[in-house]
Amino acid sequence: MGMDVYGKNPTAEVGQYFRNSVWGWHPLADYLTAAHPALTAGCTYWHSNDGDGLDDAGALALADALDADLANGTVALYEAERSVYLAALPMEECWLCSGTGVRTDEIGVQNGLDKPRDPVTGRGGCNACSGTGQTEPSARHYPFEVANVAEFARFARHSGGFEIW
Ligand SMILES: [Zn+2]
Repeated sequence: MGMDVYGKNPTAEVGQYFRNSVWGWHPLADYLTAAHPALTAGCTYWHSNDGDGLDDAGALALADALDADLANGTVALYEAERSVYLAALPMEECWLCSGTGVRTDEIGVQNGLDKPRDPVTGRGGCNACSGTGQTEPSARHYPFEVANVAEFARFARHSGGFEIW
């Protein structure tokens, strides 16, 4: 599953198509709308596959703003601060075993995951959290990278306007 962004009237090959996984698209769209609320206001549905987007002038203005952000270090700083924030997030209670570290559901019992994990053999315990009862914060599954912003800026500049599907 991913987000497909199509150039409406591309002026170069790079402006024909841009794709991110859903995981990568949401942080990118978050950045665009947070950093440039006025320039992104022409599109309402940044986070869904509704075919919303920006027209040619809007895409070009956004590309200019992103290139400026990239050049002056704003995007790099955002990425760095986001990494610090994500690293500091607490672990989350495991959704599969409700934090107990063992699975007492049918599949868990069938596979011997209903006994605490043996640290020596690695057997037993919940398979989602390795028996610890905790999983990584889900926010860490959403990557944000400077290179991805640069790629999107190149696409937007040559897209002739775009639609998000
Ligand atoms: Zn678990």
